[in-house]
Amino acid sequence: MSLFQDQPLKVYNSINKTKEIFTSVTEGNVGMYVCGPTVYSNVHLGNVRTFMSFDMVFRYLQHLGYKVRYVRNITDAGHMEDDADEGEDKIAKKARVEKIEPMEVVQRYTLDFHHILQQLNNLPPSIEPTATGHIIEQIEIIKDILDKGLAYEVNGSVYFDVLKYNESKTYGVLSGRKIEEAIHNTRVLDGQSEKKNPQDFALWKKASPQHIMRWPSPWGIGFPGWHLECTAMSTKYLGEKFDIHGGGMDLKFPHHECEIAQAEACNGHNPVNYWMHANMLTMNGQKMSKSTGNNILPGEIFSGENNILSKPFSPAVVRFFMMQAHYRSILDFSSDALEASEKGYNKLLEALKNLSNIKGAKTSTLDVITWKQQCYDAMNDDFNTPILISNLFEAVKNINLLKEGKASLTQEDLDLFTNALHAFVFDVLGLVTETSSQGSDKLEGVVNMLIGMRKQARDNKDWAMSDLIRDELKALGIQLKDGKEGTTFIVE
Ligand code: AMP
Ligand code: ZN
Repeated sequence: MSLFQDQPLKVYNSINKTKEIFTSVTEGNVGMYVCGPTVYSNVHLGNVRTFMSFDMVFRYLQHLGYKVRYVRNITDAGHMEDDADEGEDKIAKKARVEKIEPMEVVQRYTLDFHHILQQLNNLPPSIEPTATGHIIEQIEIIKDILDKGLAYEVNGSVYFDVLKYNESKTYGVLSGRKIEEAIHNTRVLDGQSEKKNPQDFALWKKASPQHIMRWPSPWGIGFPGWHLECTAMSTKYLGEKFDIHGGGMDLKFPHHECEIAQAEACNGHNPVNYWMHANMLTMNGQKMSKSTGNNILPGEIFSGENNILSKPFSPAVVRFFMMQAHYRSILDFSSDALEASEKGYNKLLEALKNLSNIKGAKTSTLDVITWKQQCYDAMNDDFNTPILISNLFEAVKNINLLKEGKASLTQEDLDLFTNALHAFVFDVLGLVTETSSQGSDKLEGVVNMLIGMRKQARDNKDWAMSDLIRDELKALGIQLKDGKEGTTFIVE
């Protein structure tokens, strides 16, 4: 399904390494799962890039008319320090160092994650399940894999038997890693390991007495392996076969490879139709990463409190900077690059303001239909936001011509042009007109105060006051939306 049938949506499928026409499992609906953060530290701008890429995908699919169930998990257990099966749980380690409960670590960094994503105008997912909330489901999957003979228990731990699996299936379909090469390149087990083969991965690990994050299971007290949670939660909320699975490029192996193996073992097929991987944000040419220290926090950018920045930058500018790159391209972060994005974004906003003052004419000298189609063509071509943005700058040029009286549009074309421009800038790219970095929190506070006053007016049946607040805000470009959960707002 696509509103623009002549150019159907194409998605680059990492597993086939090609762009494919998107068809959903259930017509009109999309199930999308994205691996969420491990909440043991503040999210850096690199993490945020991946989540913003999938926010754009979520937004565009909804814009096309799909009903999207977007599941993005919170990893609050099972992710070991070295992304493998040994070492300490990342959250438990932080809890030990800070002398607080693991769930305090989880709470602190989940709140930080939500706050940062909200500042950057990311839509919340439809479901945000946690690993610790799905221990029972994970245990059920392990039992199933054991029943199928593709896992084995040793001393209270359960491992996935990769070589056995590989006899009937192919381990490595996503990453292209050949099992023979993996065997050749991995150290021989040192005799300490319980694994039959080094390629095997943990489904369940026995908890040592010091390991504080622990649950009972048929194999004793322990905790689930990192890859298992995503299989459990995606299957539970999206089914055995769903449309899109996303995450950063660095999750392809081993995380997503293991997810495929687990689901194949249980259900006999790859759980996902389109595997999507977002590329990395770099700084000084190196991957932004927590462990190397080569990273910057979004909050530092909004406040300007980092020596590498020439000044503070607003969340909208940071978002525009990200959207200027294709989600599958590497993007290098720098203060200069943000300054350039800020200039470009201000130009776009200025043009939008000018457009609202332009009056309809008798004839149109610009072809807005073709322009609009080009915007859709860009997005339908694997979410090509940089090409979309170049079309938006084409629109800026045309707005300047309209302003100078060198071009004209009928009222009908003017409306079509304005609506399409607003839809792409605000709904699809998720940009906002707020460019002052300090302003957005204050604005939120003031609007929420007015929402509270409007509620009070409604409780008192003072409909005139309630309508006045809504209409005055609307005139300022702030739209209130009443829903089951209360009133929210969007800044147009
Ligand atoms: P983690 O919390 O480490 O599990 O990572 C959360 C998400 O951030 C994953 O999807 C990673 O692939 C992604 N990620 C980590 N570093 C970067 C980076 N430098 N650029 C883009 N995405 C990243
Ligand atoms: Zn995952």
